[in-house]
Formats: sequence, structure tokens, C-alpha cells
Amino acid sequence: MEILYSSTRNGNIQVKASEAILKGLSDDGGLFVPDKIPALEKDMADLAQMSYQEVAYEVMRLYLTDFTEEELKQCIANAYDSKFDTKEIAPMVHTDGAYFLELFHGATIAFKDMALSILPHLMITAARKNHVENEIVILTATSGDTGKAALSGFAGVKGTKIIVFYPKNGVSPIQELQMVTQKGENTYVVGIHGNFDDAQTGVKNIFADKGLEEKMGRKGCQFSSANSINIGRLVPQIVYYVYAYTRLLKDGKIKGGEAVNVAVPTGNFGNILAAFYAKNMGLPIHKLICASNENKVLYDFFRTGVYDKNREFVLTSSPSMDILISSNLERLVYRVTGNDSEKNISFMKALNGEGKYGITEEMQAQLKDFYGNYASEKETGETIHALWEKTGYVVDTHTAVAVCVYRKYLEETGDKTPVVIASTASPFKFTRSVMDAIDEKYNTMTDFELVDELARLAKVEVPPAIKEIRTAPVVHNTVCGKDEMKQTVEKILGL
Ligand SMILES: *Cc1c(COP(=O)(O)O)cnc(C)c1O
Repeated sequence: MEILYSSTRNGNIQVKASEAILKGLSDDGGLFVPDKIPALEKDMADLAQMSYQEVAYEVMRLYLTDFTEEELKQCIANAYDSKFDTKEIAPMVHTDGAYFLELFHGATIAFKDMALSILPHLMITAARKNHVENEIVILTATSGDTGKAALSGFAGVKGTKIIVFYPKNGVSPIQELQMVTQKGENTYVVGIHGNFDDAQTGVKNIFADKGLEEKMGRKGCQFSSANSINIGRLVPQIVYYVYAYTRLLKDGKIKGGEAVNVAVPTGNFGNILAAFYAKNMGLPIHKLICASNENKVLYDFFRTGVYDKNREFVLTSSPSMDILISSNLERLVYRVTGNDSEKNISFMKALNGEGKYGITEEMQAQLKDFYGNYASEKETGETIHALWEKTGYVVDTHTAVAVCVYRKYLEETGDKTPVVIASTASPFKFTRSVMDAIDEKYNTMTDFELVDELARLAKVEVPPAIKEIRTAPVVHNTVCGKDEMKQTVEKILGL
């Protein structure tokens, strides 16, 4: 059955999966959505016997219907290989009455690797299928995590180049080291004198520059984006929910057909939307527990039906969730309008204008599978501390938000359904905040001293991703002003 993709802002558009991946965003500014959510075809019992790669194929082939079996299997094989530090790819840890689905065993020890390790391969395959001869140039602004994950995904991938801009003084020392030591002749990392918003705005301006686009065309290259609204990032994220469920089945932790809850630390709403898609494919998921930090726009939305970004932006210890506009929510909103693009457009216009919109009660009623709550900074720290003290298991700040919100859900509802908690980053990625939560005596140590202390406390090895950067040479040292980003790109590309 062929799946086509329409835009959340124009239901009449119909493009193939490969075209949607190449474009990223629809020309009308909408997000691509599948015209229907396919049902899982293989039995759970069969899936339970499969490797991660095999489950990935069984899920992704249902969405990427214009990819051949060979193409898709090749993309999967290139993505989920020894870049991951475990054959299981996404292992699960059972502790304190919950199943922690560890999505941080890839090259950059955070969950963005799950999708960004395959996106480059999907993209060049899509380019080939659509007779695009141009070299694909990925341009990204990052506040730390996405940049490194995209760099390592695209590094060495033929037919692509990647340029990442980051705020020179706005990322952690470890994050900066991770980026500036990135190997690969097709990778470029540039620090800018400015903040993340400056970097983001600069990239948007470059994308919108028609003159530059023409110049690039003459040189045989074109821009594309790796950001989280690309359907090529959403689809690979559905895989690990199916994988997690079938592992529980295989290990006898649940019976066939038994439901589980999932708790997801949420920012841009991509990860939890993937869980929602999995549920709609027939995976027995009961509640989708949406966990926010103090930037609790989504919590308010699920409680009141009003999405309101007019509020103070809070910098928290879970920075990858410091977001006031959760872009992927548009896909869910579109769906609960009954795929009515006009209605969706009016909401998005209101969001752009007044900064808020309210959905109808009828639409709200369709969101009953979601439970939203949030964790304060204090609660997040206490959660890390308490879990470590009780079990010896150390979680990162983002995962801790989900643990805390799950506890609130349990208290509010008494629902004892087994829970899978999406564990989105290794504690080694946010060592300082994690160690601060464990004991304030650590606040005098350097970042790398903390890494060793964490390894000792948690009785786990320092991940290769962190080990490497201790000795890796710095290979990127370009820095530019926030108004010089375009010139920098031209120079890199030889335009
Ligand atoms: C990006 C990210 C999130 C948020 O995921 P969304 O798909 O944007 O909701 C949570 N935790 C970590 C560590 C992340 O990097």
C-alpha cells in the first residue's frame, strides 16, 4: 500500500516519501504528514525475534513506500552499525519499577543519534531516486546537541557536506569539544559571535537567499535541512517503541496484547509524536506521558486546550527541552482538526501573530491518550539524587524530568500499567548538572574530573564519545561575526 505525504497547510499536496525527505518542509510552510498511518503487518511474536535492524525495516518500509527493499536495508545497515556501542542499539534497563529505554548509545550519546544516523542515508538515496545530481549541503544552527549529532551522521557520507554554526560562548565545554574535533572532510564547524537565536536567524536568512541559491545551483550544490520536522527523522523514531515493546514480550515481562505506558521528556514534540504514531499502528500503548521542564507550554496545552508561548523563556538544566514552540505539535493539531488544513492554518497564524491559539473542546477530547505534566528544576535534581541513592542508576537531567512526571502521573491516577521511560541522554553528556544533583561537594571539580567521578559512582565505563574528545585534536577553528555567516558559507563552498 503506497503512502503519500500531504502538507499540514495544504491537504491537496501529495508527494512521495523520498520527495518529502528531500524537501524537509513543504513550500507552504507546513509539515509533511502521511495520508494514513499504516498498521503493523508482522505479528508481535515475529517482531520479538528480530534484531533492531530488522524491526527498523519492518516499521520503516510501511512509511517509506517508494524506497526499494535493497535501498532501505542499505540505509539501515549504514546507520545502525558499530557507531553504536551496543549490538542492541537501544537497550533497556529495568529498575525502580520502570523500563528505561536507553536511546543514547550512538555516536553523540543522545537520542538524536537514533534518527540522525540514518537521515543522511535516506537523503542521498532520496536524491538519487529523484534524479537530483547536486551535492546536498546541510546547514544547521545548534545550541549544542543537534549540531554534533548531525555532524557525525553526515561525516563521510558521499554527495553531502555539512556546515554547523554554534554560539561561540553559548555551549558547554564538552559540547564545543565534541564539535570542533569532528573528523570528516565534508564537515565544517563555525563558531559565531552571538547567541543561538543569531545563529538560527542567520541560517534562515541563508536558506531564503534566492541569489545564493542560484549561485549554488551553478556550482552543482543545493541546501537541505536536517531539523527535527523532517519526516526522515520522525519515522526512524517510531522503530524503537516497537522494538522496546517486543523486547518486553520476548523477556516475558508482559503478555501478548498487554498495554504499556510511555513517558517521554519532550521539547519539539518529535519523540513523543513517534510514540503516538506507533500506538496508531497498533502497538499496545495506553498513555503517552508528555514530560516538560519549567518551559511547560505543553503541560498547559494538554490541561487547557490553549497553546500560549507568551511567557518567560527559562534556561534549565535540560537545555534540549528549553523550547516554547514545539514544531512537531502541528502534526497532531492538524490530525485532531480532522486533517482540515484551513483550520490548522488559522491556529498557526494565531501562534505567529498573538503567540497563542486555543483548540475546540471536540479537538481536545481526541487528546485523551496524552497526559502532560512538568518537573521544576528542584524536582529534577531531587529525582536524579533519589533514584541514584535508591538503585545506583544515574539518569541525565532530561530523563529525570520524565521520571519525575511519571511519578506524578502514578500518584494522580494509580495506573500501574508497566511504563517505558524514554531515556534521551547519557548522564555523561550533562555531567555537571547530574553531579550537582548527586552532591554539591562536586562543584569545585573540572568537567573531565566530574566525568571520572561519575563513572566511578555509577559503575559504568566512560562512553567512547567522551573518551575520544579528551585527546582528539581540534580540527575546526573558524569563528565569524553573526553578520558574516553568508560570506563564511560562500568561502567554504568556493562560491
Ligand atoms: C531533543 C531532545 C529532547 C526532546 O525531544 P523532542 O523530540 O524535541 O521532543 C529530549 N532530550 C534530549 C536529550 C534531547 O536531545
